[in-house]
Amino acid sequence: MYNVTLIPGDGIGPEVSKSMVRVVEATGIDINWEIVNAGLNVIEEYNTPLPDHVIESIKKNKIAIKGPITTPVGKGFKSVNVTLRQALDLYVNLRPIKTFKGIKSRYENVDLVIVRENTEDLYAGIEHKVGDYGAESIKIITKGACERIVEFACDYVKENNRKKLTGVHKANIMKLTDGLFLKVFRDISEKNKINYNDLIVDAAAMNLVLNPEKYDVLVMPNLYGDILSDLCAGLVGGLGIIPGANIGKDYAIFEAVHGSAPDIAGMNKANPTALIQSAIMMLRYLGEYDAAKKIERALEKVFIEGRVLTIDLGGNATTDEFTDELCKYV
Ligand code: NAD
Repeated sequence: MYNVTLIPGDGIGPEVSKSMVRVVEATGIDINWEIVNAGLNVIEEYNTPLPDHVIESIKKNKIAIKGPITTPVGKGFKSVNVTLRQALDLYVNLRPIKTFKGIKSRYENVDLVIVRENTEDLYAGIEHKVGDYGAESIKIITKGACERIVEFACDYVKENNRKKLTGVHKANIMKLTDGLFLKVFRDISEKNKINYNDLIVDAAAMNLVLNPEKYDVLVMPNLYGDILSDLCAGLVGGLGIIPGANIGKDYAIFEAVHGSAPDIAGMNKANPTALIQSAIMMLRYLGEYDAAKKIERALEKVFIEGRVLTIDLGGNATTDEFTDELCKYV
C-alpha cells in the first residue's frame, strides 16, 4: 500500500480530484489517500492558504498529487505552488506533451517532454525599483542548478529510451548566464553519451510550431520552460489534458497544468484528464507501470470512440459521466 498526500485544491480541483481517485482505484492499486486542504477554502480557518500540516504531510509521505489552487490576488499571500516548490526544493518541472488519438489538434505524432528548471532564473524574485528610472529584475543562473537539471534530463532520456535531448537557451545574447547553462548542458550530455543538440529559444518557439514531431526531450531554464510548455500544450489540444510533475531529490508533487477554472467550478463540467494523466505519471514514479498503462489505454479508447467527451473537447458529458465511461475500460 502506498501513502499519498492528496490536496484536492479549490475551484474545479475537488471535482477533478474525485474523478482521478476513482480512476486510480479502478486499477486495483491500493493507495491510502491522506487528504489535506490548501487554497482559498482554508484561509479563514488557518489565516494562510498553505497550513504547515500540508507540508508536513508531504514530507511524511514523500509523494503528493494536487488539484489546482487559486492564487488570491491582492491578499498578500504568496502563491501556494511557488511556496511548495521552494519549501520542498522541487527543482524539476516535468511536462510530457503527447497527441492523443481522438483529440482534435493541428498535429499528429507529437510526443515531447519539457524539463524545466524550477527554482531560479528570473523567478528568484530579486527585483527592485531604481529611483524614477525604472526597475530591475535579476536573472540568477548557478552552476549547481544547471548541473542537477541537466543530469535529471539525461537520466530521463536514458530511463525512458528517448532518442534526443535538446538544450534551449539564449546564450548568444546572455553570454554569462545562459552561456553557463549551455556549457553545463554540453558537458553533461557529452559525459552521458546521449544524442544532443541545442537551440536558441526564439528558434525553438518557431520550430516547435512548424515541426513539433521532430522534438523529443527538451531541457531549459525556468522562464523559457514556462512559456514553451504552454505553447506545447496548445499543440496537442489545450490545457484540459496536459499533466505535470514537480520533482526534487526527496519529494514529488503531481498536478495538472491548468488552473482552478473558476468559470466552471462546481458545475460538473471540468475535464479531469490532465489530473488523471498526472496520476499516470505518479504511478510510473512509484514503479506501477501496469496500472499506468491500463489508465492510458482507457483514455485512448474513450477519446477514439468520441461518444463521451467533456465540453472543452466538443462533447456534452459531465465530469462524472466521463469518469464512469473511463472506469469501464480501466
Ligand atoms: P485556468 O487554467 O484555470 O482556466 C483557463 C480556461 O481554461 C478557463 O476558461 C477554464 O474554464 C478552462 N479550463 C481549465 N482547466 C479546465 C479543465 N480541466 N476542463 C475544462 N476547462 C478547463 O486559468 P486561469 O483562469 O488563468 O486561472 C485561474 C486560477 O488558477 C488563478 O488563480 C491561477 O493563479 C490559478 N492557477 C493555479 C495553478 C495550479 O494550482 N497549479 C495553475 C495555473 C493557474
